[in-house]
Amino acid sequence: MSIHLHINHNDMRNRNLALILNHLHQNSPISRAELSSQLGINKASISTIIRELIDRGIVIENGVKSGSQDVGHPSIDLQINPDAGRIIGISIQSTQVTAVITDVSPNILWRKTIDLPKIGGMEMGLLTVKSLIQEVCNLARSQDLPILGLGLSIPGMVDIETNRLLAAYELGWQNFDLNSLMEGNEDINFYVGNEAHMSGLGERYFGSLEKSACTLYINWGMDISGAILINENVVPGIMGLAGEVGHISLDPTGELCQCGNRGCWNTLVNFKSLLKYMQPNKEAEKITRQAGCNEASLDNMCINSFVELVRLGDKPTLAALEKSAHWLGIGLASLINLFNPDLIILGGPLSQTFDFVYPTVQAEINQRALTWQSGSCVVQPSRHGQDGCLIGAVATVIWNIFNNPEEPIRKTFRRKIKK
Ligand SMILES: [Zn+2]
Repeated sequence: MSIHLHINHNDMRNRNLALILNHLHQNSPISRAELSSQLGINKASISTIIRELIDRGIVIENGVKSGSQDVGHPSIDLQINPDAGRIIGISIQSTQVTAVITDVSPNILWRKTIDLPKIGGMEMGLLTVKSLIQEVCNLARSQDLPILGLGLSIPGMVDIETNRLLAAYELGWQNFDLNSLMEGNEDINFYVGNEAHMSGLGERYFGSLEKSACTLYINWGMDISGAILINENVVPGIMGLAGEVGHISLDPTGELCQCGNRGCWNTLVNFKSLLKYMQPNKEAEKITRQAGCNEASLDNMCINSFVELVRLGDKPTLAALEKSAHWLGIGLASLINLFNPDLIILGGPLSQTFDFVYPTVQAEINQRALTWQSGSCVVQPSRHGQDGCLIGAVATVIWNIFNNPEEPIRKTFRRKIKK
């Protein structure tokens, strides 16, 4: 029995477009001849597609290739046009929401952060987010360039088929149709996702230079969550909920987690647990108070104060961090045994302490993960640091367009009128 695959002309064009855009994204500057030989697409097809991409302003020629030998037919370098359009990234955090407008590189061209209201719960919080979305969409429209899309990163579980927020424990929000945030802006491509998934994609698409066949991205901050990436593709699971590593049970009789379970990994390594590790010590209590941290107002600012105490070498803070680092390594060792990754990226606001926790984390991994697996896995800090979720939201927009480009290219990029 033979299986016949029917690939029509449009499928082939879409596939070639995706290959060319992603190759340009990763390997610019590059010539037409190099694209043809490296991708195995004939020169005539490359020429036709590149002509259209230049015509629509997505690709630009970047001068004669250095070392070009053929004087009659000099080789011209190509690259993605950073000003092909603008992208909007939004990141909701525990107490704030930040919006950025970027070019395609992605350089951040504009940024605004506002506090989420302390009262009014989910309803008031989402009204604030919606009003910031309206403001940033108006501003992006005024720049007279195509808007490629809006990516929204949220610290919670999102059904990516319907864009429904299932639960964001950190915010106390649940069961909300996130599409309604785009009322009046439905013409803009909208992508919403869990912050770890988006940050992980941002790290692989606009960050780590190393090749990695299987990456685990770990977002460590108010809570801990993760993403599994095969090459540069996030493994979503059937609803987009894969990677909720924070809710793996490690201590059946441990602290109650927000998910309702006891002793989740989250309860042993999140920021709240770090502060608890400090509390038996009176000096630590004083320092914690000085940093402005209490359970009612835990936020990224408090994490920044905590990180500052770590950098100052404060002993109770370092002792608490050490305890957390043990649990971090214990959890990662199990994840290494489960996924056999070659790269673990530690991101999120607490990853600012990477240099301090790394020796303990690596020692736990060496002791607990299978030798073959731990030996082939590198643990690295995030490249984008505090902007991980924002770059991730922007990367999600570009990744979606570059990997299925036919329709968005026709919808978003007008042909230039030839004179
Ligand atoms: Zn849990």
